[in-house]
Amino acid sequence: MKLKGKVAIITGSASGIGAAIARRYVEEGANVVIADLNLEAAEAKAQELSALGSGQAIGIAMDVTSEAAVNAGVAATVQHFGRVDILVSNAGIQIVHRIEDFPFADWKKMQAIHLDGAFLTTKACVPHMKRQGGGAVIYMGSVHSHEASPLKSAYVTAKHGLLGLARVLAKEGGEYGIRANVICPGFVRTPLVDKQIPEQAATLGISEDEVVKKVMLGETVDGQFTTVEDVAEVALFLAGFETNALTGQSFTVSHGWHMG
Ligand code: NAD
Repeated sequence: MKLKGKVAIITGSASGIGAAIARRYVEEGANVVIADLNLEAAEAKAQELSALGSGQAIGIAMDVTSEAAVNAGVAATVQHFGRVDILVSNAGIQIVHRIEDFPFADWKKMQAIHLDGAFLTTKACVPHMKRQGGGAVIYMGSVHSHEASPLKSAYVTAKHGLLGLARVLAKEGGEYGIRANVICPGFVRTPLVDKQIPEQAATLGISEDEVVKKVMLGETVDGQFTTVEDVAEVALFLAGFETNALTGQSFTVSHGWHMG
């Protein structure tokens, strides 16, 4: 039980990567808050994870772009579980267009979810972590924190931005035992990616099979998708790593798509 007694808030964890991290944390004894836009799905996921018989999970409604909603969610976490040791800022969406066609409203929505969400959740959790003597903040970046792809200007910009936020938090948090790191997955088969396959095929004028084999997995060492379990294992390692030896870093999990 690597996380026994720890309390984790994971945003966007009713689905996909966040849900797998929540499961892994609960299996290791953590009490987990499933903070998601979709309350019904968050509560269902929390019930499923609590039934595992290790840590407890609760579901709460949180729109990470709303300062009031984030502050209320973090306050509810502390009220329910007494503390917050781990923040996984994971909620995210994808919108793809060429730059000249990108609706400004969609650009702003992307920055709001990925960057405002990371900032607001961090800002709300740090005072609790300081008071407790430390904590782990994990941002869900992407290979797109390091690489660029056509059509993804908003996503690539936001995911690069998370590296900056993590590095500043690593410096500000060091003396308080607050560590900040970024996980950078390659393509993981979640609803976020399933939606992109037909969209990219239409925009690029190629088949869906070609989108998967060439665009998504063409640069990997073995043509394989990264799995939610792969990412959850790295998130467990980072949450359980107790010293500042690992802070301000990014960890790429991508079947060798990005090396560096
Ligand atoms: P997903 O669509 O399966 O899950 C995203 C979750 O976020 C959903 O439950 C959704 O309700 C929630 N959400 C959306 N907007 C929100 C908001 N404003 N506030 C709170 N919750 C909100 O997606 P996923 O693939 O699991 O993606 C999770 C994270 O991983 C994202 O940040 C994404 O950019 C990143 N990522 C995904 C991949 C991939 O290939 N799937 C690769 C690299 C990085």
